[in-house]
Amino acid sequence: METSFDKILKVHANNPAKRARFLKFNKHKMTSHDRRANPCIRCGRAEAHISVQGLDYCRQCFREVAPELGFKKYGKEA
Ligand SMILES: [Zn+2]
Repeated sequence: METSFDKILKVHANNPAKRARFLKFNKHKMTSHDRRANPCIRCGRAEAHISVQGLDYCRQCFREVAPELGFKKYGKEA
């Protein structure tokens, strides 16, 4: 998918000075607080990340791999 960011980069493709200036002020700076900074190691999803005990799974993947990891489900429908 082409974003507006990519479109503007294309416009400035032939002008390195304008391109550099555009990148300097508009490039997204990834930080450690970014949602996209630590995605799920299994599917790459950034939302609903479980990082406790170094799991690094999203909730959907955790649900699938939890029995293999030794997690047990308690309750009525277990
Ligand atoms: Zn996942």
